[in-house]
Amino acid sequence: MEKQLILLQEMSNRYGGDSSYVLAGGGNTSYKTTDTLYVKGSGTSLATIRAEDFVRLERKKLDAMWEKTYSADEKTRESEVLADMMAARLEGETRRPSVETLLHNLFPQRFVLHVHPAAVNGMTCGREGKALSARLFPESVWVDACKPGYILAEICRGQLAEYKTRTGKDAGLLFLQNHGVFFAADSVEEIDRLAAFVMDGVNGVIREGKERFGALLSDCLGTPCREFLNSPEIASFDPTLRSPTPDHIVYCKANYAVVDTAVPEEQLRLTLAAFERENGYKPRVVIVKGQGAYVFGTDEKQLDTVKKVFLDHVRVAANAAFFGGYLPLSEELVDFIVNWEVESYRAKVSGNG
Ligand SMILES: [Zn+2]
Repeated sequence: MEKQLILLQEMSNRYGGDSSYVLAGGGNTSYKTTDTLYVKGSGTSLATIRAEDFVRLERKKLDAMWEKTYSADEKTRESEVLADMMAARLEGETRRPSVETLLHNLFPQRFVLHVHPAAVNGMTCGREGKALSARLFPESVWVDACKPGYILAEICRGQLAEYKTRTGKDAGLLFLQNHGVFFAADSVEEIDRLAAFVMDGVNGVIREGKERFGALLSDCLGTPCREFLNSPEIASFDPTLRSPTPDHIVYCKANYAVVDTAVPEEQLRLTLAAFERENGYKPRVVIVKGQGAYVFGTDEKQLDTVKKVFLDHVRVAANAAFFGGYLPLSEELVDFIVNWEVESYRAKVSGNG
């Protein structure tokens, strides 16, 4: 038993220390025997929790909570539930168990890992998340967004029971819309396998989506080499900001195209054709609203230059915030440089450069 708690600690520390799974101490874990639930206390962090930190609760008392009728008034109900949860602790326990304790106890499996990974929450917070989760993870339960606390646990209880009736198996995978995911299994190895399977699945969709959209853009533009860039700075970058210096215009062009992945292909082609007509060149940087940017080059060398110079533009604009805010080149100067560029190019082509 002691050994199982060490395994729980090891699993908690490992996932807690992995930022692709856990941010800022969120998430919780548990281990259970027939009689006792060991769950993370609220306010403790998964990354640093020790075996002796888990709050011990009597499972029979937690189960008995489902037989009770709680107040219809939300506030009263949640405080009644909390009081019963505190009363379910083994003698001598002083810590407060996780607010998601009831959910942990619902799973018959011995180990439970509950996290809110950004990759998984892309799906649980996506408009088509529910349909995609059914396709990618048919052996899972999906719970629509609802109020946290007792109501959430009650809905999960109903759906886990329904899954068991339908399949004859206990669900080990529960997605909570606009919240996160629960993994449940009898061993840590099985939790690891399940978590990796889910992460591979959602990351695969993200990767394919980026790749498919990038290939479509390349096709529209007739520019073969591309790379997708994203960072918080790029995602929040304002594409209407003009270039910071003449060099940026030379390598990345003065204007960046802005597109939306949600529009039909037809409209995307029209948008990019209109850009080329208005500017007289194909965009080298295509900003995808809220996501990031694709940079383009006719060959790898040009792509590398465009990438470096665009990232520099993003950095310069962000740094300028500390110097009173970004002041790009004036429209007049941009126009002058663009025309001067065109002129010098013509001169070069005609052999007068
Ligand atoms: Zn949660």
